[in-house]
This record gives sequence, structure tokens and C-alpha cells, in this order.
Amino acid sequence: MTLEIGIVGAGVAGVGAAYELREADAEVTLLEKSRGVGGRAATRRRNDCVYDHGANYVTPDEALETFMREIGSGEPVEIEEPVWTFDSTGTIEPGEDRDRPALTYEDGITRFTKDVLSRADATLETETRVESIGRRAGGWRIGSEGREYAFDALVMTPPAPQTAALLADAGWDDPLRGELVDAVEAVPYRTILTAVLHYPFEIDRPYYALVNVDKDHEIGWLSREECKPGHVPAGESLLIAQMAPAWSLERYGEPEETMAGTAAELVADLLDEPRLETPDWTDRQGWRHALPDAGIDDGVLARAEERSLYLAGDWVAGEGRVAAAFENGREVGRRLCD
Ligand SMILES: Cc1cc2nc3c(=O)[nH]c(=O)nc-3n(C[C@H](O)[C@H](O)[C@H](O)COP(=O)(O)OP(=O)(O)OC[C@H]3O[C@@H](n4cnc5c(N)ncnc54)[C@H](O)[C@@H]3O)c2cc1C
Repeated sequence: MTLEIGIVGAGVAGVGAAYELREADAEVTLLEKSRGVGGRAATRRRNDCVYDHGANYVTPDEALETFMREIGSGEPVEIEEPVWTFDSTGTIEPGEDRDRPALTYEDGITRFTKDVLSRADATLETETRVESIGRRAGGWRIGSEGREYAFDALVMTPPAPQTAALLADAGWDDPLRGELVDAVEAVPYRTILTAVLHYPFEIDRPYYALVNVDKDHEIGWLSREECKPGHVPAGESLLIAQMAPAWSLERYGEPEETMAGTAAELVADLLDEPRLETPDWTDRQGWRHALPDAGIDDGVLARAEERSLYLAGDWVAGEGRVAAAFENGREVGRRLCD
């Protein structure tokens, strides 16, 4: 019997699960609320620039790096320059460069999700926000903008707070539902505002990025997208400033101009370069549920799986990293195959 499997979310965890199901006797459907795939491993294009405004790069182990090189239409590219550190006083120093290799693609980090998806045998429905889930005989039903889907098994990959909200309202009469909601809701998250700052001149520095090590500066991370081959035309600079969680929460509702303007002032101050106060264009992205600070208790997950409900993502893996989320999605896909 061919199983109907629904996967909510086409980020790296969702496509990882779909990839592992490629040879199973199953009809796999990915439902994604956004226009494109990739989730927080996201890329935008503007004025000849390509920039990764969520995850900056993937740090694969050897097996994942080989996989990335084998599945793709585009070769991953390595960021050669190091990551340095800074503290709340603005002191910049060479740091330990733990994240090696740091890989992305000439056309952006979203390429990874697209490549994996091209090898999966799944139907993708974008701009399809899942609004409700409920139990049906032998499986699950999903509601999205007036449409109903029926599946034998369901994989949920949205960030924990969004998954918890869907589970809390689920038409599912089972004491496990409350336990699951409590466990998913308990996963703590950080909020990050990303300010994208473009300059029509080059910024000459010996590092790719700066990370705030004492977590007491308004900027959490600052990187130079021009260190990624193919991302920024010669003679220009594009900075990605990921702002600290407290700063980001406070300014979450601010318009782009105000938020990016203040971020540019902080960047100019940190790099001690006044001309950085006035980028020629900016962009902004709010990541309300940017990074999980812990994982979920997995006892409850095994019991949900007995009811053919699977949860996957970085918050299930317990690590806010592309590689961890992808591997977690693959593990779920393998368990579904079994
Ligand atoms: C600012 C920032 C910087 C980061 N930097 C790095 C880094 O440098 N390196 C690294 O390895 N990791 C980094 N990360 C973490 C990394 O991006 C994530 O761990 C990883 O992408 C999570 O993948 P996922 O599939 O678990 O979740 P997501 O990518 O969030 O995917 C979930 C998907 O579900 C969709 N969805 C949600 N709700 C619904 C719904 N109701 N209906 C349908 N679809 C829905 C979403 O649109 C999304 O596509 C960063 C994250 C952020 C935000």
C-alpha cells in the first residue's frame, strides 16, 4: 500500500526527510508557507548582490561535505577569511576559527535545499500555510486556506513555537497532545533582527566576520558578504549585521529605515569607520524564532511517532545549525521508511 506522507515546512529538515523517503513506497507532499524553500537557510538577490540573510554558511562533517558536492548542480564555495571576535567594549581580536569548512554557494545558501529537493521524489506546494491539523482514522488531516489534505503520517518541521500553536489547537483527542504541547512550548528561542547594509565601496579588513563573545554588545554578528565568491560585485561591500536578542526584541516592530539606520551607526562605531553610517541601500529581516537554545525532551517524541506524528528540525536536534537540522530531518525520514 502506498503511504501518503505530509511534511509541513520545506526548510532543510523538511527536505532532509523527503530525501530519505525518495525510494519508499510513499507519496510525499511538502507544504511550505513561503514562496520559496530553505526556511532560515535563506538567500536574497538585489542590485547584482546575492546575500544569505539567515544562516551564513554550513559547517558540514566529511560525510555531509561529500554529499553536498555530489548532489548539486552548483559546487559549494568556501569562505577562506577567518572569523574574529569582539567584546562589549568594541575590542576586536583574532579569534579561534572553529567553524571549518564554512560553505555556501555562489548563488546563495538556498542552493543546498534546492539541490536536496531536486533529488527527492516529492510534490512541493509553496505559499501553502498550514492552518490546522487534526486526527482522522488511521492518520492526519491538514487544513490550509479552505483546502483539506489527508495523510497517513505527518512530519512537522516549523520552529517549536509555531509547531506548538498548531498542536495546541489540533483536533486530536488524546492525553498525549497536552504533554506534547508542553514539551514543544518549553523549547527556548532567541530573536534576531538582521540588518543588511550595502556600500558602493570596498571595506578592507583581514576577516570575514566578527562575533561578539561576551554577548553584551548590541551587535551579535557582523559579516562581509563579499568574502563569498559570486555574492557582491567588485568595488562594493555588503555587511550582514545580526543584532543581539535583547536589542532585536526591543526594535522588532521598527520600520526598516529606522532599524537599519541605527544598526549602521553601531557598525560604523564598532569598525571605527564613520562613512559606514550611511549605506546606499539597506534591507531587513526579522527572525522571531531565530535559534533554539535547547532541544526537546525526546521521550514524548517516540510516543507521538507511535501515532504516526513526527517532529523534526534544529529544535529537535537541540542545535541551531543547518547541518544538525538536516541530519535530524534525514533521521526522521529513515524512521518513516522503517
Ligand atoms: C540569523 C540566523 C543566522 C544563522 N546562522 C547560521 C549559520 O551560520 N550556520 C548554521 O549552520 N546555522 C545557522 N542558523 C540556523 C539555521 O538557519 C537553522 O538551524 C536551520 O536552517 C533550521 O532548519 P529547519 O528546517 O529546522 O527550520 P526552518 O528553516 O525554520 O524551516 C521550517 C519551515 O517551515 C515553514 N513553516 C512554518 N510554519 C509553517 C506553516 N504553518 N505552514 C507551512 N510551512 C510553515 C517555514 O516557512 C520554513 O520554511 C542561523 C539562523 C538564523 C535565523
